[in-house]
Amino acid sequence: MSHASYSIALIAEILDASPVFSDTEAMISQLATDSRSVIYPAESLFFALKAQRDGHKYVDDAYKNGIRNFVVTEKGSLEKYEDVNILVVSDVLLSLQNLSAYNRSQYDLKVLAITGSNGKTIVKEWLYQLLANDFNIVKSPKSFNSQIGVPLSVWQIEEEHTMGIFEAGISRSGEMSSLAQIIKPTIGILTNIGEAHAEGFFSHAEKLKEKLKLFNNAELLIYSPDYTTGLSPKDLPAKAQFSWSLKEKADLQILFIEPIESKSYIRALCKGIEIECLIPFRDNASVENGIICWATLLALGYSGKEADARLEKLTRVSMRLELKTGINQCSVIDDSYSADTSSLAIALDFLNLQNQHAKKTLILSDLVETGKSNEILYTEIAALLKQKNLHRLIGVGPNISSSDEFFDLEKVFFKDTQSFIQNFPALHFNNETILVKGARKFEFERISKLITLKIHDTILEIDLNALSGNLQFYRNKLKSGVKVMAMVKAFSYGSGSFEIANLLQYNKVDYLAVAFTDEGVSLRKAGITIPIMVMSPEPSGFDAIIKHNLEPEIYSLDILKSFSGYLNDNDYDYPIHLKLDTGMHRLGFEEPDLPDLLRTLVETTKLKVISVFSHLVGSDSASLDEFSVHQLNRFTDMANDIEAGLNYSFIRHISNTSGITRHPDAQLDMVRIGIGLYGFDGNLLNNQSLRTVAVLKTTVTQVKKLKANETVGYSRKGVLSGGGDIATVKIGYADGYNRKFGNGVGIMIINGKRVNTVGVICMDMCMLDVTGLDVKIGDEVIVFNSELPIVELANQIDTIPYEILTNISQRVKRIYFYE
Ligand SMILES: *Cc1c(COP(=O)(O)O)cnc(C)c1O
Repeated sequence: MSHASYSIALIAEILDASPVFSDTEAMISQLATDSRSVIYPAESLFFALKAQRDGHKYVDDAYKNGIRNFVVTEKGSLEKYEDVNILVVSDVLLSLQNLSAYNRSQYDLKVLAITGSNGKTIVKEWLYQLLANDFNIVKSPKSFNSQIGVPLSVWQIEEEHTMGIFEAGISRSGEMSSLAQIIKPTIGILTNIGEAHAEGFFSHAEKLKEKLKLFNNAELLIYSPDYTTGLSPKDLPAKAQFSWSLKEKADLQILFIEPIESKSYIRALCKGIEIECLIPFRDNASVENGIICWATLLALGYSGKEADARLEKLTRVSMRLELKTGINQCSVIDDSYSADTSSLAIALDFLNLQNQHAKKTLILSDLVETGKSNEILYTEIAALLKQKNLHRLIGVGPNISSSDEFFDLEKVFFKDTQSFIQNFPALHFNNETILVKGARKFEFERISKLITLKIHDTILEIDLNALSGNLQFYRNKLKSGVKVMAMVKAFSYGSGSFEIANLLQYNKVDYLAVAFTDEGVSLRKAGITIPIMVMSPEPSGFDAIIKHNLEPEIYSLDILKSFSGYLNDNDYDYPIHLKLDTGMHRLGFEEPDLPDLLRTLVETTKLKVISVFSHLVGSDSASLDEFSVHQLNRFTDMANDIEAGLNYSFIRHISNTSGITRHPDAQLDMVRIGIGLYGFDGNLLNNQSLRTVAVLKTTVTQVKKLKANETVGYSRKGVLSGGGDIATVKIGYADGYNRKFGNGVGIMIINGKRVNTVGVICMDMCMLDVTGLDVKIGDEVIVFNSELPIVELANQIDTIPYEILTNISQRVKRIYFYE
């Protein structure tokens, strides 16, 4: 096992817990906060955190997954198990932090702590790239920087490490002291400080003071006076400081920055001597983060020359896992930015969340984890693969190849990426999910290119974390016990099918709903096992409904009788959902239909009413509030009649997305969330608190200069009276970019600038007026994102976000991101 272990008895003492022991010898090496992702259950200690959800609800799941050691505030349902150790504490989060702080106190190593509003993760990853040759480094996985993420990160420290690099983020006053006690930094790094209000602080000064608390006991602080205005030098924490500045005298005083092709050449004065460096990026954020890394290297004692040599080799850090469509019905998860055990575990969790293919394959390079013998490292990886139910391993590199014997699954090894590519046809990728994970020097992007479908230049990026975040936003608005039905009809409002459904299933929604039977069938084929309601079941699809265990919405006596007639005589209690018409006048039973409905239902034992529901016509609109209340009352009356007639109860639901926030009384037993998941709610001002899920991008295919009086596109509709520049981009009405956006109505963003369409929108492309802008072939063009929101597009052509989203055609490839 990788991590040093502590006995549960010692942990009980450290946490000052009231223990109930079944086995005081149990050794703990892993901390778990999510019952779904445990790697070594026998050695894991589960913390029932009251975070977004109450972890106490998941202790049974954790038990089922093999966990036997728990930290809780009350024994609750654990009491029924005989083979568990329970540590009862008054504050579970504090206990997690205390245990991690104890682990930290056992080791004496250089610890770099990074905080600031922006750039923490990039600076951390870059310092890792810059220092990995000289130290055996442990670092925060991804952006684990919260009250929970920091203790989980610091817990990873063990004997062999000579340096730790951790990031710390806070969202309100008072949080930093606890992080400081866990990390105990020796060196502090302050990155960019942004707007105070964006992060829940009163003022800039308050925010700065809070952040700096991280460094109170540090030896050295690396900072910029550009970000500490209002603070006198004596107020700065740490025993010594090393400053950098673009504006004033500093230990590293930047003299000038000059772009050279895609790089930035920087000259600076360091303790009176002129030095220089070349950073392989041009954008402002990267340059600033690069300077912070430069300052850190100098402060650590590296020479200007050495620092320059290292900085030049920095590579871009992508924190996202990308899920793409692969060749031969495969799905490909692309994660080639780092190859270490903890990021592998995270990527494998994402792999396991995708159930659309029965087979799971991992293409893995040698791991660069200095300090561990091959035997220990690859035994660990082998255990991880077994625990995550991998089917096939394709190892690339000399080390993993020579560790063949440890792996107990279908496997094949190649000495390098080139020989993988030569043997590629023999690997027969077909209908499987493939995780591609390699250290940078193996250049696995060559492998991903081979196994993913070529992406046409217009893509819709879907941020799965944002979608989970939006689900959580609504969960927090629900009264306790209210269930969630997630609407995934119309290709999940244009965002995808099984990719979204898998995520929702993983996040434990109670129901999914689709419009048509075939949508439900494809979800079942993709491994979705939670209940699925079909809203427009057609008799020709009844066979498929029953075969795939889908649940029909019954909206008329005809459909009720024909479905019932379709079932076999010995079928019993088949789940159905009754739709009531309370004012939409679209589908559903009305009051006068109820006697016949009830008579038919009572006569048969084949059917069981699982839920009764209706739909609000104007839940987002103040002017219709009265009507919404009227619908709710009518619904309640009718549902009561049905319940009395059937003599059993069922789930009642009437609210869609905007009803959740606007009409809390209408939450009933369940809510149906649709558009809110995808980031829109007519009832929230500017969709506040919701995250943007979808970004539509395309590229410039050609740039042209126009003379006065020349025209653009069909029918000569596009006119730039004085001439100008136009860019042709690869999106047209066949992709879902409505013709109404033509002739200057529509706006896109190129290189950060808003530009208008010119001329009519064609089938596969359209033209933009880029007069006076520096636009080149291949430049990225944003059609919508968080800065150019879909709501704005909808307003431009007098429609609603629903239509913009669902119109994006299937030929536009979707890419899914997960952090
Ligand atoms: C689509 C749909 C919803 C979801 O509505 P949103 O406004 O997208 O939340 C809810 N109920 C029914 C019956 C629907 O058809």
